Amino acid sequence: PPDVEQLGRSSWTLLHSIAATYPEKPSPQQQTDTRQFLQLFGKMYPCWVCADDFREYMAKGNEPKVSNRAEFARWMCEAHNAVNVKLGKEKFDCNRWDERWRTGWKD
Ligand code: FAD
Repeated sequence: PPDVEQLGRSSWTLLHSIAATYPEKPSPQQQTDTRQFLQLFGKMYPCWVCADDFREYMAKGNEPKVSNRAEFARWMCEAHNAVNVKLGKEKFDCNRWDERWRTGWKD
């Protein structure tokens, strides 16, 4: 089975990177695709307890917010924080999300 910690770090990198490059004005199709991606991600994520909790999180009042990049980024940050809290880790300050995942990139 995969290393749950390493898988988690790589997966959050992917998820936050997707949010960082999400359009400021997504089309209806892009919004639908993103919702579907997250649902499927929640079914296929190869840590089954993690996946079950993630699907439950989304189902219980935390539907993905995909209407624009800022909302999606905030949603992703809060979803990650929910896992941080569950695991007894420190919460991340979502006001620093851009700096960590978007504008901080130098390439
Ligand atoms: P990570 O939590 O992997 O974070 C990586 C980096 O992201 C951090 O160093 C920090 O710079 C940044 N960061 C931290 N918090 C935020 C935030 N809120 N927003 C933006 N950036 C942030 N593990 C389990 O043991 N049980 C679970 O049920 C579980 N569920 C998971 C569900 C999902 C959907 C995912 C993707 C992962 C899950 N994991 C779970 C893995 C877990 O979240 C961590 O990835 C893993 O424990 C490694 O943690 P870490 O301390 O290295 O940093």
